[in-house]
Order: sequence, then structure tokens, then C-alpha cells
Amino acid sequence: MALRPPWQPPSEDAETEAMWKRYSEGDRSPEVTAMVQDRKARKMNSILEADDAELFEIKRISVEMPEPARIYKTVTCANCGEKAMEPRTRMIGGKLLCIPCAEKE
Ligand SMILES: [Zn+2]
Repeated sequence: MALRPPWQPPSEDAETEAMWKRYSEGDRSPEVTAMVQDRKARKMNSILEADDAELFEIKRISVEMPEPARIYKTVTCANCGEKAMEPRTRMIGGKLLCIPCAEKE
């Protein structure tokens, strides 16, 4: 099996770099915009046409699993009627509100 270098973006010449500089400085002339769109398309195609092996390294890893999610009661906001989990609500003036509504009070 041949070893392949990882994927590299298409190289850019000095003229293209000068155009990118103009673009980054706010130049949106048709000339600069066309170049930017062309280069973006070239880069996307280069990724789409690359072999998986150039883009991804597949190997076994070991990861520490996160704790199981805690399940909370769902309550209905007294103002907007949206459902929210209990810790994401606030009791304001005797009404249970979702955080966006609580922040408006
Ligand atoms: Zn609400």
C-alpha cells in the first residue's frame, strides 16, 4: 500500500495572494469576487475529489465516557408556554418562567 501525504489545499500563486489581500481589505469588485469564488470552488472540489485516506486517519483511540445525562422534570413557562427543563427556569413573582422570559421581567 502506497503512503499518501495528507490532503493539502491547492497552491496559490503571488497574483492570487494579492487578490486575497484585496478581498480581506474589503475589495468586492467583480474581478476580486470572481477570483475568490473560483478559488473556493477549487478548494471544495479538491476536498470532494480526495481519497478518504488523504482526509482522515482512522485508528482506535480510548476516550473517557462522560457521565450519563441527568434527567430533569419538564415544566411549562407561565409566560410564553414553551417547555423547559426545571433547572432552566426561574421563579419570578410566583410564576415559573423560562430564562428568556425571566430576563424580560
Ligand atoms: Zn417563557
